[in-house]
Amino acid sequence: MGIGDAIKDFMSGAAASASAAKDKLTDGATILRLETEIKQLQGDIDKWCGEIGRQYAAKYAGDYGGEFGSYLEQISRNKDKIKSLEDQISAIKGTRKCSKCGAEIDIDAAFCVKCGTKQAPAAARGRTH
Ligand SMILES: [Zn+2]
Repeated sequence: MGIGDAIKDFMSGAAASASAAKDKLTDGATILRLETEIKQLQGDIDKWCGEIGRQYAAKYAGDYGGEFGSYLEQISRNKDKIKSLEDQISAIKGTRKCSKCGAEIDIDAAFCVKCGTKQAPAAARGRTH
C-alpha cells in the first residue's frame, strides 16, 4: 500500500483506540458510580444492623442467659470500664458530671452550668481534698 493508505490505516486505528479508550473511561465511571451506590446501600445495612444490636442490647441488658448473652456481658464489662476511665479523667481534670443532664461541671460547682440543677456537695461525692 502507498503512504496515503498507511496514514489512513494509522489514523483509523488511532480513532478506534481513542473510541475504545473513551468506552473504557465510560465503563470505569459507570462501575465507580455503581460501586459507590453499593457502598451506600451496604453502609445503610451496617447502620441498621448496628441499631438493631443497640436496641437489643438495651432491651436485654443483664440477661446473659439468652442467645447473645456473652456479647451482652462483654458490653456490660466495657461500659463499666468506660465509666471507670471517665472517672479517672474527671479526677485529673477536677470535674464531675451533672447529676441530671450529665454535663461536665467543676467538682466544686453548686449548680450545673448547662441545666441549672443544684448539685450535691462535692465532699458528699467522695471528694478527698
Ligand atoms: Zn445539668
